[in-house]
Amino acid sequence: MAEYLASIFGTEKDKVNCSFYFKIGACRHGDRCSRLHNKPTFSQTIALLNIYRNPQNSAQSADGLHCAVSDVEMQEHYDQFFEEVFAEMEEKYGEVEEMNVCDNLGDHLVGNVYVKFRREEDAEKAVMDLNNRWFNAQAVHAELSPVTDFREACCRQYEMGECTRGGFCNFMHLKPISRELRRELYGRRRKRHRSRSRERRSRSKERGRGGGVGGGVGRDGGRERRRSRDRERSGRF
Ligand SMILES: [Zn+2]
Ligand SMILES: [Zn+2]
Repeated sequence: MAEYLASIFGTEKDKVNCSFYFKIGACRHGDRCSRLHNKPTFSQTIALLNIYRNPQNSAQSADGLHCAVSDVEMQEHYDQFFEEVFAEMEEKYGEVEEMNVCDNLGDHLVGNVYVKFRREEDAEKAVMDLNNRWFNAQAVHAELSPVTDFREACCRQYEMGECTRGGFCNFMHLKPISRELRRELYGRRRKRHRSRSRERRSRSKERGRGGGVGGGVGRDGGRERRRSRDRERSGRF
């Protein structure tokens, strides 16, 4: 029985826990949902709710046909927003693994920004600090989010260009950043990782010269980190 409950946790079959909150970190029923929203007490991911404003959504003419903001301008505005937030998260709180912004239009998803940090402590710090901040003349609402696997949260039809629910879909429609910015933010990081592991290798070489046990230190550290991450993941079920 316990095994069965674990296997359906957070799925549509689960009559107790809300599958939308579990997978997407937001559900259209909000606090009035008849199923439980299990708010995580620790997570690598934080959600900044309703924080990005697409200038095209507010610049549309009454008939909805003309938009004062071109696609190019919108992309520039979005890239700038993304880069600024990303940089601030890394500077103030710690290394970011992944950041995503929802392009959905429903109240519970519109403009949501999800930041997945490498370390849970950084996510915790960010939530506490950001809830005292203002952005675009509105108070920031930040919370720890249960989302760690964005593939599970995303709308598969949207990714194939086939979602018929449009902006009001209840799965994430992620707004893409330009290829240039992606390369700048995530490419640079790959380089950083490479140089860091190179550093570690040369450090362990030095240690090896002295005592002979060097070389295994970096690898074990990685294994331990991975193990604790698995533990955390299974601890949530
Ligand atoms: Zn719900
Ligand atoms: Zn969709």
